[in-house]
Amino acid sequence: MSELIVALRERSEEFVTLRRDIHQHPELGYQEFRTSDLVAKKLAEWGYEVTRGLGGTGVVGQIRRGTGGKRLGLRADMDALPIQEATGLPHASVHAGLMHACGHDGHTAMLLAAARHLAEQGRFSGTLNLIFQPAEEGLGGAKKMMQDGLFQRFPCDALFAMHNMPGTPRGTLALREGSTMAASENITITLRGVGGHGAMPHHAVDPVVAGSAIVMGLQTIVSRNIAPLQMSVITVGAFQAGQANNVIPNEATLKLSVRSLDRQVHKTLLQRIGELVDLQARSYGVQATVDFQGGYPVLVNTPAETAFAREVALELLGPDKVDLQCEALTGSEDFAFMLDEVPGSYLFIGNGDKSTGGHGACMVHNPNYDFEDANIPIGAAYWALLAERFLVDAA
Ligand SMILES: [Zn+2]
Ligand SMILES: [Zn+2]
Repeated sequence: MSELIVALRERSEEFVTLRRDIHQHPELGYQEFRTSDLVAKKLAEWGYEVTRGLGGTGVVGQIRRGTGGKRLGLRADMDALPIQEATGLPHASVHAGLMHACGHDGHTAMLLAAARHLAEQGRFSGTLNLIFQPAEEGLGGAKKMMQDGLFQRFPCDALFAMHNMPGTPRGTLALREGSTMAASENITITLRGVGGHGAMPHHAVDPVVAGSAIVMGLQTIVSRNIAPLQMSVITVGAFQAGQANNVIPNEATLKLSVRSLDRQVHKTLLQRIGELVDLQARSYGVQATVDFQGGYPVLVNTPAETAFAREVALELLGPDKVDLQCEALTGSEDFAFMLDEVPGSYLFIGNGDKSTGGHGACMVHNPNYDFEDANIPIGAAYWALLAERFLVDAA
């Protein structure tokens, strides 16, 4: 085992306690007041120059050392989810209906553990920017920090972030070059017909029949317009219309989630959804409005930075514990906004699988999930080593 992991493990109790404290006090996106206070206080204690207020509750801690001109950004997310925790653990959430079910408490703790180590013993030359962002879960906190001037105020030559991954052996790392997390788009379709008596459909214009045809039609976009080797998903998660057996409603609403792993595929999906809904609605005589509500772009790990991140992973853990080209995921992640502006890489740390069992093997966003504390020194050691290898004086 690497000396660095051993060193960080020896003092990991402080960060396990801190992680559990954050876990007990989960906060939703843009409401991470207690969490960001805690992060800011710790960073300041260890000598970081702390900037608050970016994206509301975002925190940036900066340390400059030596004469090196390189600038590194490491990012963690801080928000929790509106889920009622069911783990029954001693450190379970004390707030009803709120829970750290995605491990962002652990991401914050790993980066703080690295922050302390780097401030006290880090051998690097250059600028280290530690970015603690709010509201990753659907609210685009990364983008909000960028709109508040994140990269103008804290320019970075490369950026890295890590997410825990249940179902993979704990303490292992997995990386991937290229598209890694899906682009997402939320769409609401409203169909307006003419309501009427269920027994006299010829006097009405039925939005339920039109909506049903549209649900089926949408699946042909995936099967007929997108190349079979490209991933794409169109899910109609909600179809709402009517209340009574004998009443044809005026209106029907469809709510869609759209995913893909390629910018061009994503464009095609959105364009075809617009066309198909418009033409299908017209063929049934209903009026359609299609409201594209936005989502996250595809997360693309750049080649040079991913190669570098792999080297660091191999140096720290050896080849047995590193998956060098893992599969892409159909979930989305707002770190994608940051990678659209700065080159970098997003990687995964195994949170436990069937062999270890327990809450760590449970999938994220599940009420029985918990972050694996044994990963804190490993993730922290990875960040510390990556910072030391990246922030070197140019030869
Ligand atoms: Zn999540
Ligand atoms: Zn997450």
